[in-house]
Formats: sequence, structure tokens, C-alpha cells
Amino acid sequence: MYDPKSLKAEDFINHEEILETLEYAEANKNNLELIDSIIKKAEDRKGLSHRDASVLLACEDEERVNKMYALAEQFKKDFYGNRIVLFAPLYLSNYCVNGCVYCPYHMKNKHICRKKLTQEEVKKEVIALQDMGHKRLAIEAGEDPVNNPIEYILDCINTIYSIKHKNGAIRRVNVNIAATTVENYRKLKEAGIGTYILFQETYHKESYEKLHPTGPKHNYAYHTEAMDRAMEGGIDDVGLGVLFGLELYKYEFAGLLMHAEHLEAVHGVGPHTISVPRIKRADDIDPSAFDNGIDDETFAKICALIRIAVPYTGMIISTRESKKVREKVIHLGVSQISGASRTSVGGYAEPESEEDNSAQFDVSDNRTLDEVVHWLMEMKYIPSFCTACYREGRTGDRFMALCKSKQIQNCCHPNALLTLKEYLNDYASPDTKRIGEELIKRELDNIPNPKARETCEKRLALIDEGTRDLYF
Ligand code: SF4
Ligand code: SF4
Repeated sequence: MYDPKSLKAEDFINHEEILETLEYAEANKNNLELIDSIIKKAEDRKGLSHRDASVLLACEDEERVNKMYALAEQFKKDFYGNRIVLFAPLYLSNYCVNGCVYCPYHMKNKHICRKKLTQEEVKKEVIALQDMGHKRLAIEAGEDPVNNPIEYILDCINTIYSIKHKNGAIRRVNVNIAATTVENYRKLKEAGIGTYILFQETYHKESYEKLHPTGPKHNYAYHTEAMDRAMEGGIDDVGLGVLFGLELYKYEFAGLLMHAEHLEAVHGVGPHTISVPRIKRADDIDPSAFDNGIDDETFAKICALIRIAVPYTGMIISTRESKKVREKVIHLGVSQISGASRTSVGGYAEPESEEDNSAQFDVSDNRTLDEVVHWLMEMKYIPSFCTACYREGRTGDRFMALCKSKQIQNCCHPNALLTLKEYLNDYASPDTKRIGEELIKRELDNIPNPKARETCEKRLALIDEGTRDLYF
């Protein structure tokens, strides 16, 4: 029985409910009256149910699809302005006991180079990341209770937060590790993590079990119920995602929104972020072996509809996607992107050689952080390195309440300018610095509250004098 309030995976991600939803969406994909009424409902900015959003996803009427894109763009402007938050992944270890068939870290892959960073190596990586200008990391590790126990992850988090190289600092560590126990989530919370991210990969139970034939990840319920345990352990912000390409995208889309509805129904707060990775080529993985790949147009439509369906949830797009694709979807509601990523264990301090390859997937966007920052500004976006909310305790329902009252806008915009200013002063190339300074001057006028504008101006001057880490 479908029940968003249940704590059982098969109730809140109910297979029959998804099938009925897809049937309903297919039957109504040309019902323009219904589609117009859903678009009208979406305009209230309160989000859409998985059923309504699935009808929009099925609709192919050009005029209506363009309306959906326009609405997503509007939401992006209204809720996230022209800011894009930047982060980088840091792979700690690729030892893994699971058998995921789409990931080269699966246990049976005997020729991939296995690595695990020592604390000294973590330090080197973090210094390299700080020297690029990064302030926000997402740490990643395979599941391996012997090689990557929770104590190792906690040690790494401590090391990362402790390093202050020149003016650098990592101010928020998001964590992407395997589903674990309430007790371990509590430990992560105590270590001061930002968001706990766990991709569902696929919501389709039968496919999930085939794609995860061995290892603890085979347990669909344990994996799907992980966010509830994370929240029970005190983690306020959780990040969802599916790996598009494994199953039918319409199924995944409905499942993703049902998961968001479940979190809202049980914990009173939806997901902090949703990531939209697509399956990519990697060591022994050929994406064409998976039948459900989606083209760029469908991908853009999914991004737009996530923005409309869950307006307050951040959307993340990584360097799995090319510059061209990122350009296509960024204005449709993406709020965070990674930049200058290495998807190998180590590789920031010293690039890996061919033989040494430990990468999880091939990166499509290989630009430096300076190039990414420059590119964003050329498109009139403000690259932001802000981490203020988590440090001010604005997480979970407190964050969502602020977000819904639109007060968050008074923080994000000036914080984007302050953190960009730090970046320009400490790390940017002369050309990036020049266009960045012009952008800050222009964007100061877009802080509506005169007092906040004045404070921001004063703080920008303080950054020029050497002060760092100022935020609203
Ligand atoms: S996806 Fe994660 S759990 Fe699966 S093999 Fe790769 S690293 Fe291990
Ligand atoms: S103020 Fe909060 S919501 Fe806004 S960019 Fe910073 S951390 Fe994110």
C-alpha cells in the first residue's frame, strides 16, 4: 500500500503507485486542459505531486513544454537568483565490497588501481583544493568496513576541517558514503558534516537488486530507508539522486519525487539537494551496455521539472556533464555545480598516471576552477563559495522556513559577493579578477535592503584589507 508516511521503503516508494502514476501520465499526456491546470498550480510555487509532475514529464506539446522551461527559469531566478555555488568532490578510498555493475569500483574489478588516502595524503589533497579556491567539498568513499570504517571517514573529516593553508579553509564537508546505521550518522553529525548525500541509483526494486548483485548494497530496503536513519541520527540536510540511464527515466523521476514527499511527510523537511547524474564511461564500464540512457533534451526537461516540482530543493550537476550540457541546463534551476573535479582517489595534489588510474568515471568537463568561474561570470552568473547557512545553524527545517519566507535571499546574494571577492583576491587569474570586480560592483546594486548593501560594501573593503570568512 502506498503510504508516504510509512518508514518501509516498499510503502513510500510503492511500485504499484509508480506504475499507476506512469499509466495516468501516459493517458493524460495530450490532455491539454489538465496540463494547463497543472502548470497553473505550479505557478503557486508550492511544488507539485509526483503524479502531476509525471503528467508534465509525459507531455510533448511544444508550447506547454516551453511554458515549463520558462517557469523553471523563473523559479531559478526567484529562488536562487543568478548565483551558482561551487564545490569539488574528494575521493578518499575506492576499496569497495559491493558489486554495483555500473561502477568500476565494484569488488570484482581486479585491475583498477585500489587506493586509500592516508591522513597525510588527505592533507595534501586539501591544500591543493584550497589553493584552487575551493571552500566546499563532497567526500566520497566506497563501502568497505575493513578499509573504510566510519572511524577512517571521521578522521578524514577532522583532517579536512583542521587545515588552514594560506587564506584557505574548507568550511563545509558534505559526505557521500554508503548507507549506514543511526549511530554512525550521529557520529557524522557530531563531526560537523553539511549534507549527507546518498544516491538511490534506481528506485526500481527488481532492477536495483540485479544492478547490485552482491554486497551489503544489495539490500534495497536498507539503502532506500537510509535517509530516515540519517535524520534519526540528527542529520538535517540530506541529498537525493538517481543515476539516470539504469532504469526508465519516468519511473525514476516519479520515485525521486515520492522520496522527497516521504521525507517531507515524515520529517517535515524535504531533501536539501537533488543530484542528476547520468551514467558515464569508466574503467570497465561502457554506458551503452545500459539500455535506458537519456538524451540531452530529456535531461533538460527532467532538470526543469525537478525545479518546478520541488522549488526549495537545491539541484546539483557535476562534471560528469560537458560544458555544453551544463550551459543548457544551468538556467533551468541548477543551484550547485562542481568545478575542476578529479574523480580518482587523490589526483588534486599530483595528477595520476595512466597505469595508476583509480577514477570512478570519466569527467566531461575538464576545465580549471578559474576557467569555470570565468565562464559563469561571462554568462552573468555569480560564482559563490558560500557555506554560511550550515555554519549559522540554518539547516533542515530552519533553512526551509527561511527559504520559503524568501528571507534566504538577503543572505545568499551578499554572501556570494563576499566569497567571490575572497576568491578573486586569493586565487583568480588577472582576467578573471577584472571581470569579477566589475560584476561585484554591478551586483551590489541588486541587494535590495540598503542596510545590507552598506554592510556588504564595508565587508568587501575588509576583505581587501585581509579579513576572511565574513558572512551574513
Ligand atoms: S557505486 Fe559505490 S558502492 Fe557501488 S561499487 Fe561503486 S563505490 Fe562501491
Ligand atoms: S546563504 Fe545559505 S543558502 Fe545561501 S548560498 Fe549561502 S549557504 Fe547556500
